[in-house]
Amino acid sequence: MKNIDEKIILLSKKAEENIKDMFNSIEEIALCNQNKVLSAFQKYRISAMHLGGTNGYGYDDIGRDTLEKLYAEIFGGEDALVRHTIVSGTHALATALFGVLRPSDIMLSITGKPYDTLDEVIGISGSDGCGSLRDFGVKYEQIELFDGKVDIEKVISRIKQEKIKLIFMQRSKGYLDRPTLTIEEIENVCRQIKNVDKDVIIAIDNCYGEFAETREPCEVGADLCIGSLIKNPGGGIAQTGGYICGRQDLIEFCSYRLTSHGIGKEVGASLNQNPYMYQGLFMAPHTVSQAMKTAIFAASMYELLGFKVNPASNEFRSDIIETIYFNDKDKLVSFCKGIQKGSPIDSHVTPEPWAMPGYSDEVIMAAGAFVQGSSIELSADAPIKPPYIAYMQGGLTYESGKLGIMLSAQSLLDDGFIEL
Ligand SMILES: *Cc1c(COP(=O)(O)O)cnc(C)c1O
Repeated sequence: MKNIDEKIILLSKKAEENIKDMFNSIEEIALCNQNKVLSAFQKYRISAMHLGGTNGYGYDDIGRDTLEKLYAEIFGGEDALVRHTIVSGTHALATALFGVLRPSDIMLSITGKPYDTLDEVIGISGSDGCGSLRDFGVKYEQIELFDGKVDIEKVISRIKQEKIKLIFMQRSKGYLDRPTLTIEEIENVCRQIKNVDKDVIIAIDNCYGEFAETREPCEVGADLCIGSLIKNPGGGIAQTGGYICGRQDLIEFCSYRLTSHGIGKEVGASLNQNPYMYQGLFMAPHTVSQAMKTAIFAASMYELLGFKVNPASNEFRSDIIETIYFNDKDKLVSFCKGIQKGSPIDSHVTPEPWAMPGYSDEVIMAAGAFVQGSSIELSADAPIKPPYIAYMQGGLTYESGKLGIMLSAQSLLDDGFIEL
C-alpha cells in the first residue's frame, strides 16, 4: 500500500489483534438483528409488488404502508411513519414533538440538553414568534446526567410534583462529551418512570443507535423512537428520509403533523424510493456492524497512538460513534483531512471549519458520501472548541472504514503530529 507508511500498517495489525473478541460480539449482534429483519420480511411476505411506487396523492401505496409495518415490527412499536419526505433526523424529531405536545404541556429532557439542532425547535434558542414549541406554550425543562447516567432520583421527584406530558431521552451522545445510554439503562429508566406515571410519553432520539444492540427502545418501554434514514436504519442505501415508531395513537398524531389532520398516513407518494428503503433496511444490520467495527478499530488505533478515546476499544457500545480527544485544533483538523482522503467521493477536497445552520460553534465535517451528509458512511464531525474532540462514525464496509482510519493516522504523521 504505497500511500500508507509501513509503520502505520504495522500499527494497524497490532490494533486489530487487540479487538478480535470485540469483533466476534459485533458479528453475533448483527446475526441476531439480521434474523429480526429477515423474519419481518418473511412475515409480511415482501415481494416485487412492494418495491413499486406511487405518484400524486399516493393512496394505497402498498410498498409504503408495508414498510411502515416492517419498521413497527423490527423496532417494537405498534405502528410507524417511515417517509422519504421526512427530510432529516431533526425533521423526524420535530414532527414527533409537535405531533404529541399541546399548549401548557411540559416536556422534560432527562439526558441533559438535546442535540443542537433541536434548540430552535424547542425554543431553547432562536427568536420568539418563529413557531417553536415555546411559542405554542409548550414548557421545556431538562435534568442533567449525573455521572453519565440518568439522574433517576431527580426525575422521579419531578414527575411526582407535577404532570409531565413527555419525557425525552437522547440515546446516543451526539455531539456531547458524555456516554451513550445502553438499552439496559433505557429499560431501567422507563420502568421506574412508568411505575410512577404510566401515562407519561417516553420519546427517544434513537439516531445512531439502531441495530447497535439486539433490542430497540420501544421494545423496552419507550413510547416513541425516532431517527434518520441516512444514518443506521437506511443501511447506506436509503437516499433520504426519517422514521418515527411507537404507540399507534401517537403515530397518528405525528402523521397529522407530517401531512395534515384527517389525512395522516393515508397519503404520501413513495415515488421511486421504496426499493432503496427496503434494501437499506435489509442491509442495515450488516452495515451497522461494519460501522461498529470501524469505530472499534479507530479506538484501538488511537489508543496505541496515545490519544484518549471514548468508548475504549474493549468497551461495550450502544451506538456507532467514536470520540477521539485531540486537545489541539490543528491535530483535529489534520485527522479530519485524513478521513476525507479515505472517502470514495470528494477524496481530493480539503475540509475546513465553517458555521453550520443549527449549530452554535464552527464545525468541521469530513465526509465524502454517496448520499450527501450520510453519516452511516465514514465521516467525522467536530465542533471547533476545546478539548477539540472528533466524533467519527460510519463505514459502509469495514475494509473501507479501516483504510479511512489508517489514512487519518497517515495525515497526522505527515503533518508531524505523531511519531512512530
Ligand atoms: C444526527 C442526529 C440528530 C439530527 O439528525 P439530522 O439528520 O442531522 O437532522 C439528532 N440527534 C442525534 C443524536 C443525532 O445524532
